[in-house]
Amino acid sequence: MKPTYDCIIIGAGICGTAIAYELSRLGYQTLNLDQLGAAGHGSTSNTCAIIRTHYSTLEGTAIAYDSWFDWHSWRDYIDVAGTMTLAKFHRTGLINIYHKGHDPGTHIRLHDELGIPYEIWTREQLLARMPHFVDDSFYPPRRPDDPLFHEPSREKISDTILFYPNDGYINDPVLSVQNIQHAAESKGAVFRFHTKVTAIRSGNSGVRGVTLADGTRIDAPILVNAAGPHSAEINQIAGVAHKMNIQTRPLRHEVHFVPSPATFNYEKDGLVVGDGDLGGYHRPETGNMILVGSEDPACDEREWIADPDTYDPDVTQAQYQAQTYRLAKRIPDLQIPNSPKGIADLYDVSDDWIPIYDKSDLSGFYLSIGTSGNQYKNGPAIGRLMAALIDACENGQDHDTNPVQVPLRHIDFKLNTGIFSRNREIIQGSTFSVLG
Ligand SMILES: Cc1cc2nc3c(=O)[nH]c(=O)nc-3n(C[C@H](O)[C@H](O)[C@H](O)COP(=O)(O)OP(=O)(O)OC[C@H]3O[C@@H](n4cnc5c(N)ncnc54)[C@H](O)[C@@H]3O)c2cc1C
Repeated sequence: MKPTYDCIIIGAGICGTAIAYELSRLGYQTLNLDQLGAAGHGSTSNTCAIIRTHYSTLEGTAIAYDSWFDWHSWRDYIDVAGTMTLAKFHRTGLINIYHKGHDPGTHIRLHDELGIPYEIWTREQLLARMPHFVDDSFYPPRRPDDPLFHEPSREKISDTILFYPNDGYINDPVLSVQNIQHAAESKGAVFRFHTKVTAIRSGNSGVRGVTLADGTRIDAPILVNAAGPHSAEINQIAGVAHKMNIQTRPLRHEVHFVPSPATFNYEKDGLVVGDGDLGGYHRPETGNMILVGSEDPACDEREWIADPDTYDPDVTQAQYQAQTYRLAKRIPDLQIPNSPKGIADLYDVSDDWIPIYDKSDLSGFYLSIGTSGNQYKNGPAIGRLMAALIDACENGQDHDTNPVQVPLRHIDFKLNTGIFSRNREIIQGSTFSVLG
């Protein structure tokens, strides 16, 4: 490591790595520091890696669609000659079942506005594609110990089901980040692991550099907080947390794995399903398994974590049962082993579940945080928008009064990055859930 860089990025998850890639392309000499052993080993390692475009804001939808082109043509995005194994995009399509209180109109309007393909399906079309499903409504989602959990359904799910043919998932999210690291290194970026930032040094003119756990000092006039669930901690040590309208905090989340039902081969025929009626989602997982996640229904108590270094990484029987028993209502043939299998990791949740991509009140200190359980898919566009934002601010633009506008790479859309400001009012149109 040299003693001085143009920019130090704290974190080498999908965000920090993609930012390094794009800043390096602009000619910045970047250094990523991560306390873990390799790129993508933080919360990115446990992402479900679902690639979808339905978000509650136009800007959120636009960056998801822009990034979709990169996942779809990953080799072009990585742009490095050679034989490196690349992550793979399984373009399965995604079915979204809306609960009665969730009007699909916003998603339809935003997809129409951006020209993103979708189909409106009836219940009959759903059952033709997923013959192992039942089309009963079980809304609102409940926990298995609720006496009403086992009540028979009295109505059908909403007859407006959306199918998004482009969507799918990435087979190996850690590999995808390491692909980006490789691409960034080919442009001159430097990465160091097992390296914890413990202090941020600044003076009258702004950021000066970081101090590491072993006392080493490295200087840079630009720092980026891309620390995932540690973002609030990094904002505290930088002294910027109390100068932001929107805060972030870690939330523990579980994802479980169960075998495919005997009547349907998920590995071969499965796709991604968002089931708002059940309060969860699922997708195919390697080994003809099903990955079962939660959409944060109101009945599930939220597990806010005070210290992101000490959360319990083991799944619990209670949450395993809640998520898989709910799915068994949609798939009556589902087999649920007694012993839970799955992962638990942390979201970095903002107050309105919309990310913060912004500068801060400390000159030279930038924020790529608050990804709220749903920004893995947007990594490529986040890299570009943060690089453009940093470059504009470092060249004198006052982003707070004149927000940076970024033309997206793959679609005809100029992104007003001001929507992701740390000082915005709460975005009331958000779902206040992992759906963003
Ligand atoms: C269970 C789960 C399922 C998810 N499913 C999806 C999905 O299907 N689709 C989707 O788009 N998104 C999903 N997400 C969200 C997605 O994974 C995150 O939005 C994204 O990975 C965040 O990336 P990041 O780079 O901000 O954070 P991280 O990957 O956590 O990277 C931050 C890095 O900062 C490092 N760091 C922190 N503090 C320090 C320090 N002081 N010094 C040095 N290094 C430090 C950490 O070690 C870490 O490696 C999911 C998340 C979880 C937890």
